[in-house]
Amino acid sequence: MNTEETVLEDLYQELDKIKTKAKQEYKDVNIKINLAELEKRIAQSQHLIDLKNLKIDNKWLERLFKNYLLILEKYKKENGEIAKKLDQGFKQQILDLETLAKKVFHFDSVYLETLAKKMNLKIEDLAFLGLQLINPVFELYAEKLIGKIETDKWSKGYCPVCGSPPVMAYLRKDDGKRILWCQFCGTKWSFLRLKCPFCSNEDQKTLKYFFTEENNSYRVYLCEKCKKYIKTIDQRKMKKGENLDLGWKNIETLALDFLAQKEGYSSQKIVFSV
Ligand SMILES: [Zn+2]
Ligand SMILES: [Zn+2]
Repeated sequence: MNTEETVLEDLYQELDKIKTKAKQEYKDVNIKINLAELEKRIAQSQHLIDLKNLKIDNKWLERLFKNYLLILEKYKKENGEIAKKLDQGFKQQILDLETLAKKVFHFDSVYLETLAKKMNLKIEDLAFLGLQLINPVFELYAEKLIGKIETDKWSKGYCPVCGSPPVMAYLRKDDGKRILWCQFCGTKWSFLRLKCPFCSNEDQKTLKYFFTEENNSYRVYLCEKCKKYIKTIDQRKMKKGENLDLGWKNIETLALDFLAQKEGYSSQKIVFSV
C-alpha cells in the first residue's frame, strides 16, 4: 500500500468511527416509521424511506458536523481550509445541514452549485459532507426496515430501502449472484448480472466489462446505452479473511473509476479526494 492509500484508509476508519458513535447517539424516538404508509409502499413495490416526511434531529446533525470538521482539519492543510469555510458558512447560516443532506441525496446539482459558489467550495466538498450527514440516519432506518422486504427478490436497479442507484456491486461467493450496494443506507440487494441497473438495458451487445491485470478480482461493468458503469468485486477471488467492506472497497478502487471515466462513463458515487 502506498502512502496515499494509507492516509485514505486512516481517514476512512476515522469517518467510520464517528459514524458508529453518531448512530449510537441518535435517539430511537427520532426514527419515525408510519406503518400504514409503509404497507402502502411495500404493496406498490416502492422503496421504503419517504424522504419528504423525514425529519433529522438538528442538534445531532450539528454534533456530527463538528466531529467531521475535526477529521477534515487533521487530514490535510487544504482540507483545513475547507473545514474553515464550512464552519463559517454554518455560523453565518448559509449552510443548513439538514437541507444539504437531503439535497445531496437527490443530487440536486443546481442547489449544490449555487451553495458551492456562495461558500467558495467545490461541489464535491459539499456532496461528501452531505453523504456523511445522511448516511448514519439512513443506515438506522435501513436496520429497522430491512426485515420488511426480501432483498433477494427486489430485482430493481435502485435501493429497496431509500431508492438510490447503486455505486458498487459484488458477485456473491455462494451462488455467483450479483449483489448491488447502496452508499446512502448500506442496503445490499440482488440484481441480474447481465442487465444495466441504471437503464434496465438487457441487450448483451451493448453491455460489457473490463478488468485490470493488477487486480483481477474487480470487474467494471459498462453500459453503452446510458454510459454508466458499476465496479464489481468477485467475492470468490477475494483473499481468505478479506473483509467485504464495500464503503472501503469503493475508495480503494478509485483507479478503476478514473479508467471508466476516461472512457466517457459516469457513476453517481460520492467519494472523498485527498
Ligand atoms: Zn439505500
Ligand atoms: Zn444502462
